[in-house]
Amino acid sequence: MIWIFAFLLLVAVLFYQPLNLLVSSALLLLFIFIAASLTDLFWLIPLSLLILLPLNLRGLRRLLISKKLYLAAKSAIPELSQTEQEAMDAGNTWWDAEIFSGKPDWKVLDNLAESRLSDEEQAFLDGPVETLCSMLDDWEITHNLQDLPQEVWDFIKQHRFCGMIIPESYGGLDYSNYAHSQVVMKIASRCSTAAVTVMVPNSLGPAKLLLAYGTEEQKSYYLPRLAKGEEIPCFALTGPEAGSDAGAMPDSGVVCYSTFQGKENTLGIRLNWEKRYITLGPVATVLGLAFKLYDPDQLLGDQENIGITVALIPTDTEGVNIGRRHFPLNSAFQNGPNWGKDVFIPLDWILGGVEQAGNGWKMLMQSLATGRAISLPALSAGAGKFTCRNSGAYARIRKQFNVSLGEFEGIQEVLARMAGQTYIIDAARSVTAAALDQGEKPSVISAIIKYELTERMRSVVRDGMDIQGGSGICLGPGNYLGRLYQVIPVCITVEGANILTRTMMIFGQGAVRCHPYIYQEIKSINHENEQTGLEQFDELLFKHMGFFMHNQVASLWLAMTGGRLLKTPGDENSRHYYQTLARFSAAFALLADYAMMTLGGQLKRKERISGFFADILSNLYLCSCVLKHYQNQGSQQQDLSLMHWSCQQTLYSAQQAMTSVMRLLPFSLVTTYFKCLIFPFGKPMLPPGDDLIRQLAALLVQESEARDRLTYGIYLDQRPDDVTGCIEHAFKAVLAAQPVEQKIKALQRKRELPKGSVESVLDQALEQGLLSQEEAELIQLASVARRTVIMVDDFSSEELRAGALKASANDSMS
Ligand SMILES: Cc1cc2nc3c(=O)[nH]c(=O)nc-3n(C[C@H](O)[C@H](O)[C@H](O)COP(=O)(O)OP(=O)(O)OC[C@H]3O[C@@H](n4cnc5c(N)ncnc54)[C@H](O)[C@@H]3O)c2cc1C
Repeated sequence: MIWIFAFLLLVAVLFYQPLNLLVSSALLLLFIFIAASLTDLFWLIPLSLLILLPLNLRGLRRLLISKKLYLAAKSAIPELSQTEQEAMDAGNTWWDAEIFSGKPDWKVLDNLAESRLSDEEQAFLDGPVETLCSMLDDWEITHNLQDLPQEVWDFIKQHRFCGMIIPESYGGLDYSNYAHSQVVMKIASRCSTAAVTVMVPNSLGPAKLLLAYGTEEQKSYYLPRLAKGEEIPCFALTGPEAGSDAGAMPDSGVVCYSTFQGKENTLGIRLNWEKRYITLGPVATVLGLAFKLYDPDQLLGDQENIGITVALIPTDTEGVNIGRRHFPLNSAFQNGPNWGKDVFIPLDWILGGVEQAGNGWKMLMQSLATGRAISLPALSAGAGKFTCRNSGAYARIRKQFNVSLGEFEGIQEVLARMAGQTYIIDAARSVTAAALDQGEKPSVISAIIKYELTERMRSVVRDGMDIQGGSGICLGPGNYLGRLYQVIPVCITVEGANILTRTMMIFGQGAVRCHPYIYQEIKSINHENEQTGLEQFDELLFKHMGFFMHNQVASLWLAMTGGRLLKTPGDENSRHYYQTLARFSAAFALLADYAMMTLGGQLKRKERISGFFADILSNLYLCSCVLKHYQNQGSQQQDLSLMHWSCQQTLYSAQQAMTSVMRLLPFSLVTTYFKCLIFPFGKPMLPPGDDLIRQLAALLVQESEARDRLTYGIYLDQRPDDVTGCIEHAFKAVLAAQPVEQKIKALQRKRELPKGSVESVLDQALEQGLLSQEEAELIQLASVARRTVIMVDDFSSEELRAGALKASANDSMS
């Protein structure tokens, strides 16, 4: 028994500290030789030679093992379509691959420098962005105008808000990804219509595509005009028949000769398309159009079906129909359908020229990865911070049962969730922007943060709405949250609808791109030279097997030790989370491998399993961002509760998702074995507890540096008559009056003053000399400010009808 135990221990150590196969085999043989000599079991030696020799002799190994598996894999793995392949190839991998490795290299995270704003970027935020925000009246925009006012459009153009990603040499602002994110976040905290208007030209708008693929002529013409707002761009991919499955678009272009601008026999494309939901479409001057290009007469070459292509089309071109608007949940950003019938365009309108014909899908996938990692995450952070700041303050200002809402345990739970989720959102936003600034283009991470941050923002705003009660529901110039709540489904749906992103994209793409071996194995299987493919496959296969075994041992060892023996970054407060992250990463890698081994190509259709895998990967990524963000902000004592809540929430969610995965994976005997490896002493993580909930809730109802840090970067108005300025004002007034309020309550407890609200006993307290005039004034000021905040708008029926009529009049004029 001792020998068997020692043998298993040696095997475990060899897999845990993976040495190469030859060295491991030699050590094993040495052990068996000693064991056999001391126990007289000499037959063990030839038996182990019989097993170990073929494993180490490549030719034999290929013949006996790898070739069979290679051929089986070749027939089992479904061929990727071109669009799937291009989506797969888009961008690169970064920390997501470290999580997938089962053994994250902390240096990768440690080496990521924190993004900082340049003086010029900071001045832009403090100057034009601040001014723009102060010009925005969300109610006027969304209810009365159904558009941004002309002076706002002019201001956006004049200050080159649409040219943040365009280099200075083309007249743009050339800002870092982080600065871009800060700008969108700040505007989103004031008015989502303006944020979306600025967001689109800087994300998928043709500028990004032009920079990467445009011809020099196209760049010199369009980029300066886009930077100055002389051109308003839009990007048209989606149509009635092709939403999430955009590759299925029926929109087509046929290469042919026609007369163009008086020139006969111009070689070009005859286009027919029908698009919808296109942001900025109704006011666009240049349309980035995606369509499928066909060349039946082979005028361009020998290919008839050229593939998805993108062209830049001036919207005043004959046959382009643009201008009608959709009405996306009371938002006022420009969005609408466009279509064209037999529109002829010359070939040099293809983005990147005729050489880029057919490369449209690749272009989109590449560009989407970075844009998606900035725009909606920034908008989510703006919305989350805004809700924390204002609805948090509201919970302090608003009283029921004679106490502030924030003192009720039920409300505290909600406030804590809002603060914690917002901290997670901001951590992931800023760490990912820093990674982009470092040159990473992580497509899986961009899908993770698009999905996770918009979902978490939805949770924060929904919680905010619950705290606001009726004041969130009744719309009007004084309601700061209702419109934001209405716009949430837009964020959930665009740039990859969330259900699809979670259940199909994140793990589907991650499993291939981030796994240390799978992508290379697929490439070896598809290698044009079968012999070379087999040789590569053989090498990878045995490394992959070692990886699978390593993750079994690592899962058990790290579970038994809690990862405490690992060397990780972090301080005494955060180290435990790094260790749990490493532990869960090994377990995740193990389960992912098993899923791919047993389900193979079927995994694509097993969206529930894929969704839970996405939850594990996403939560581990978010937890890593939280730890990095906490460290970037100087590991502040005041932020400890935020860091603890966020790590516990994300690790707990990852753990629960792992449990769900094990429930759904095939062969319960094997999954029970995995459960014993991964959770030998039960599940280690609990959701954030009561103390943390109280601390986080308190953070939103008091003034503190931690509250300012959490909500840093949003627009703060200090005007008492402004929609949120009045909250800032009332919050300060209520806090200033707090000691007096406590004094009155103490007097009431001693029965020196009658029961009732502090306002109702104020006169008596003054008469009896229990309060000074100054103290009474503090209560009166707070009372007036509170009243302003808790009031909601009301309208006459005529006023409401007039608003609707005005909006429809504006619509027909535009
Ligand atoms: C306000 C707004 C602005 C937009 N701006 C633009 C723009 O500027 N340019 C542009 O080209 N497009 C734009 N879009 C289009 C947007 O990208 C699409 O709405 C989105 O791709 C989803 O398509 P769909 O609405 O047709 O929904 P569908 O594709 O019909 O999807 C409906 C639901 O089914 C889910 N689903 C679909 N397939 C799967 C699957 N395989 N597995 C699981 N779930 C699945 C989706 O997640 C979604 O929940 C915009 C849309 C809106 C609403």
